[in-house]
Amino acid sequence: MSVRPAETEIVPALESTPLTALHENFAARVCEWQRAHGRHRLPWQKTGDPYRTWLSEIMLQQTQVSTVIPYYERFLERFPTIESLAAATQDEVMPYWAGLGYYARARNLHRCAQVIVASHGGRFPPTACEIAELPGIGRSTAAAIAAFSYGERTPILDGNVKRVFTRYFGVHGHPGVRAVEQRLWQLAETALDAAPPDLDMAAYTHGLMDLGSQVCKRGKPECGVCPLASDCVAKRLGLQQVLPEPKPRRTVPERSCAMLLLHHNDYVLLEKQPQPGLWGGLWSLPRFDTPDELADACRNQGITLSESQRMASFVHTFTHFRLHIEPWCVEAPAGIAETRPQQEWIPFTRLESVAMPAPVRGLMAALPAPQADALREGR
Ligand code: SF4
Repeated sequence: MSVRPAETEIVPALESTPLTALHENFAARVCEWQRAHGRHRLPWQKTGDPYRTWLSEIMLQQTQVSTVIPYYERFLERFPTIESLAAATQDEVMPYWAGLGYYARARNLHRCAQVIVASHGGRFPPTACEIAELPGIGRSTAAAIAAFSYGERTPILDGNVKRVFTRYFGVHGHPGVRAVEQRLWQLAETALDAAPPDLDMAAYTHGLMDLGSQVCKRGKPECGVCPLASDCVAKRLGLQQVLPEPKPRRTVPERSCAMLLLHHNDYVLLEKQPQPGLWGGLWSLPRFDTPDELADACRNQGITLSESQRMASFVHTFTHFRLHIEPWCVEAPAGIAETRPQQEWIPFTRLESVAMPAPVRGLMAALPAPQADALREGR
């Protein structure tokens, strides 16, 4: 069984392969592949119009190309410019989004158009950094608008592209984890730094998008036709199905305690749990943070524990943590009193009607049944 790194640990590449070697020719290969095999007839390609690029990028979030095309065309027919979109009411805009889902996108689009008209004279700002300041536009979308419209040399990193980078560079950890995402951005920047100065940004950016959606697919990457296959880390290590790693499961904290099942003459010592708190309002056994604390409490009552009184430990799972419980079953000598105000000696015969948490009730089975039976029979 292979041991995988911790969720935020990053394995940049094979130890013997410097990153520069992986970056070498990366952009050139992507461009070359895009020209030969990428998509060229999508309605928003080659427009050079940031409004159209922006609209397509927002519509394509979480939505497939084939679904987006008719929406994109209808939307532009009704709102052909940023000004026409900004001048519309939200009620006029929403019907053109109905059925695409994620309606906050449409509301942000509308609001953003109004900001562009009011604050930028109806023109998109000229750089990715400034575009990313607009409402509802993230870093990758801003970069795509700037790369397609202005040829700005700035990297993109949408979901599909993250998958390509994750696999090609062998990056472990969930891409949604901040440290992993930052690492991916670094790799995307370095790939651009290593690219030739005359790189065709539109071809490169489209190439990355197309590779992610057409070749380096989520379920079944087609490494056989991938231009990056010769030195892709995931392919070399057989990690295509491992990377990108899924969202880490929330780790549940572990706690532990010791419980004292103290009984005497068919009575058991229970403790009403304070509210709010663990098992608040229920009756439980006296609980201690450690077995040593439990032993000290017993010693103070004149009881010396022996190993034979230790019961089998078990784990009880709560929503937010797992509690490891070490119970001790001890017969108290005569005359032992309650030591905490919320404690009470409860007769075995009443246990059925006492509100107890399930794991504590389970421990009652360890009580000496003959004494309880005797009590029930009135002897
Ligand atoms: S070789 Fe395979 S895993 Fe690597 S980038 Fe290409 S399609 Fe993805």
